[in-house]
Amino acid sequence: MNRIVTEQATLVWFRQDLRIQDNPALYYAAAQGKVLPVYIFDTKHPGQWQQGGASRWWLHQSLIALNERLNGALRIFQGDPLDLIPALLQTAGIKRMAWNRCYQPWQIRRDGALEVTVKDLDIEVHTHNGSLLWEPWEVLKKDGTPYKVFTPYFRKGCMTREAPRFPLPAPQSLQTLSHAIKGEGLDSLALMPTVNWYPDMACQWQPGEEGAGDRLSEFVTQRLVQYKRGRDRPDIQATSRLSPHLHFGELSPNQAWYVTQNAPLSSSSEDDRDCFLSELGWREFSHYLLYHWPTLPRDNFQEKFDRFAWRHASEDLEAWQRGTTGIPMVDAGMRELWQTGYMHNRVRMIVGSFLVKNLRLHWHLGQAWFWDTLVDADLASNSASWQWIAGSGADAAPYFRIFNPVTQGQRFDPDGVYVKRFCPELSGLPDKYIHCPWMAPALVLAQSGVVLGSTYPQPIVDLKVSRQQALSAFAALKNHSSSVAH
Ligand code: FAD
Repeated sequence: MNRIVTEQATLVWFRQDLRIQDNPALYYAAAQGKVLPVYIFDTKHPGQWQQGGASRWWLHQSLIALNERLNGALRIFQGDPLDLIPALLQTAGIKRMAWNRCYQPWQIRRDGALEVTVKDLDIEVHTHNGSLLWEPWEVLKKDGTPYKVFTPYFRKGCMTREAPRFPLPAPQSLQTLSHAIKGEGLDSLALMPTVNWYPDMACQWQPGEEGAGDRLSEFVTQRLVQYKRGRDRPDIQATSRLSPHLHFGELSPNQAWYVTQNAPLSSSSEDDRDCFLSELGWREFSHYLLYHWPTLPRDNFQEKFDRFAWRHASEDLEAWQRGTTGIPMVDAGMRELWQTGYMHNRVRMIVGSFLVKNLRLHWHLGQAWFWDTLVDADLASNSASWQWIAGSGADAAPYFRIFNPVTQGQRFDPDGVYVKRFCPELSGLPDKYIHCPWMAPALVLAQSGVVLGSTYPQPIVDLKVSRQQALSAFAALKNHSSSVAH
């Protein structure tokens, strides 16, 4: 191989940036000369945060799509990047590498260690921001400390700064060093589930950059105009469903931001635009919290919750996971999650509140189940959101705010369309009882073909009683804090 060509080449390490458009590391590398594109499935550093089943399915599809975009030049490996990358650089004779930064604590530690190792080998390292609109260390309060509350973080901290970076095009010419190194191949990663539970999920999604772009255009042209009003309704398709594409970096938040900002909308839709941009802001805020408080996935942000009287009830947990709690909104949400790898945001809040408040099971249990089953499982958003629901988070819902799944259902799924989609055994019930079948008279149940305890479960808890018990457990926490304080 021509030594000069390889010395001017750059190894681009793809991670959560599985795209070629608006990819700052790839763009930089392509401008220098040839590129060796590499993906490594890290088997060493993630620990308990190794990708779950649904994410692994998505990753498999996304790597196929990226490899196609790179004309088959992507080299795929698994193992410890701290061993593999120096070896690859030496074998290929490459003197420069580039990557887009990642923000999970274990990734920050690993990437820092890699930077030191490869610099010792005289390799140039170029890192870029390809995943966030604003770097978390740049947005601070006047006193130099990080924000803990979303609105001032976003309105004062972010929106008064320089606008986010404008998206880059795909590199004009991308010449790859495909012959320099042979990869292990995608199949060796064994990412696809061995049990065939994913066909329904596969119909819903098109992982990869093309699917992400199509979804963004479809959302902006068809649904953005009613986003603010529609985003809380799980019975209609009103949100973007971009979360897995954003998580895997098949689309950058900058692309989503500018396509939304430049969409030609009438003045009556300005609120919809703002509302969507602020949801992208929530994604940023979650990453921001994780960056500044790296123990967020494990430790209660508010320490008083360390003393909370969580229950241990594996049967209740299993009923929640399987969608057999006997509470239709909760069951529909948990079944949507299992069948599609996704759950509507409003329903995530309802099932989350039910788990941590009505069942009083630790938020770690919900976080772990979501981690395994969501295609958009994201350490920052998942951890921050579970702490928000539990009341233990930075800018959390107060503990006494307990979502009532019946009234939430009546308000956000008024005709029971969502419940009927995922709990078809309740389809015969009149709308009045679709969210509370246990309140239906025996005759109505019989006419609807519903036998509680047989065709559909009896509720595993009484909503009123369990609500009261949760409030008492919380009051005990407060009393303890005030007696300690006095
Ligand atoms: P849209 O309404 O179209 O929003 C656009 C984008 O904004 C989303 O794709 C997402 O990137 C971001 N966003 C929207 N709402 C939030 C939010 N509350 N927090 C952070 N980012 C947000 N989101 C994840 O991406 N991964 C997770 O693992 C995750 N776990 C969650 C767990 C719980 C208990 C709850 C309540 C929420 C969780 N969320 C998570 C946030 C939110 O539910 C999803 O981002 C959203 O439902 C994705 O659907 P969408 O793309 O259609 O959202």
